[in-house]
Amino acid sequence: MLKLYNSLTKKQEEIKIDQDDVKIYLCGPTVQSSPHLGHGRSAVVFDFFIRYLKYLNYSVLFARNITDIDDKIIEKSQEKNISYRELGDNVWKEFVLAHENLNCLVPDIEPRATAYIPEIIKYIEQLVQNGFGYVTSSGVYYDVSKFEEYLELSGRSIEDVRTGTRVETEDDKKRAEDFALWKFSKENEPFWDSPWGNGRPGWHIECSTMISETLGKTIDFHCGGIDLIFPHHENEIAQSKGVDINENFANYWLHNGMLNLSGKKMSKSDGNVKLLNEYIDEYGGDVVRFFFLRAHYRSPQEFSEQLLIETKKTLNNLAEFTKDVVAEPNDNDTVDVFIKCMNDDMNTPKLLGEIFEKIKDTSNLDKESTLKIKQTVKFIFEILGFELDTSKQNIVEEKLLSKFFAKYDIQFNDIETAMSEFSLKREDFRLNKKYGEADKMREDLLEIGIVMNDGENVGWYWKNS
Ligand SMILES: [Zn+2]
Repeated sequence: MLKLYNSLTKKQEEIKIDQDDVKIYLCGPTVQSSPHLGHGRSAVVFDFFIRYLKYLNYSVLFARNITDIDDKIIEKSQEKNISYRELGDNVWKEFVLAHENLNCLVPDIEPRATAYIPEIIKYIEQLVQNGFGYVTSSGVYYDVSKFEEYLELSGRSIEDVRTGTRVETEDDKKRAEDFALWKFSKENEPFWDSPWGNGRPGWHIECSTMISETLGKTIDFHCGGIDLIFPHHENEIAQSKGVDINENFANYWLHNGMLNLSGKKMSKSDGNVKLLNEYIDEYGGDVVRFFFLRAHYRSPQEFSEQLLIETKKTLNNLAEFTKDVVAEPNDNDTVDVFIKCMNDDMNTPKLLGEIFEKIKDTSNLDKESTLKIKQTVKFIFEILGFELDTSKQNIVEEKLLSKFFAKYDIQFNDIETAMSEFSLKREDFRLNKKYGEADKMREDLLEIGIVMNDGENVGWYWKNS
């Protein structure tokens, strides 16, 4: 029985859904700037989820939105002197490329906010009519005091929300905690007509409307990053319940954890962080995808390039282990392990641990049992969206090594030759007593997973072999 942690009830629950009709909504990107690793994590972990549901024979309808209008998009497009639409289209192309390379299934429905403006306006009208919305000189706002269940998802107190809310000078809403449904446009901003005046929708109302338009009033799973719980998801609930108090909006709320870079939450503002597509180019989409499998989807995940290098080695080993076998679920015990771990709130790190145990144990098994395990391991990884193709791994590996050795003017053909040239260059530094430079070369090398020894045990080896 599939069990998942529901952020709304704060409990792990047995999932009770209609096998033939599962509705999933994932909050997609705001197309203001290039995707970073955090976007990759959210796309990939919920892709594991959807692929697993499909393996269990659930019939899934999956929608992921594109937020293509908001304050930051307008700001960025004005900086670049292009239209909000041009900026959005360019950024969206980068997301499509990343999703493709990460081997994420294309959603059944990908609604764009600006394609739903008439529906959004109708939705806001309904809220105003039901007494949840009010109009001021700066826009239309949601009156939070009217909704009793407000903050049930996040568990925050209204006092915290009030003190933590930044009130813009032009806002003339009744209370700090009320939020915008419709914002009147300022000069040179894109706008749409509405019964209240020219403007654009608020972020939260876009999702509420697109969910009800594409999937219906009640959905099974609402997914997104844990950073969206407040205010975004809290406000979505307030809106959806404001339109129809008797309908359950989302039965299960699933949230993925954030990525940490040396303990800090990773964000676009950290200049030293590369973009998602840069990591994919350098290491391969399957390595980045596999990196996300290593952590539990709800946990914070540490990130460093060293970890990506290790991930690449692990994936190589898996590809090597399953080389030349067909993917088939022939070892029942391994299939059971897969189902047991995935049913346990998608415990993928545990799954990996148990699979590697199995692989290790094959050294004591006969040929036939080993083959069955190899076939089953390949089968499991295919369900999770991995190809385990050794030739592809090698191409990525060579690309990475070529790039590394090029920094030292060494042309990479094979690792032995490249390393002997590398050692000679380093020896030159040492002979000229430039120890700092020589040390730097050794540290550099470690970054790509190679350890270099001086002295008695002079030589080099792969760190993880
Ligand atoms: Zn959303």
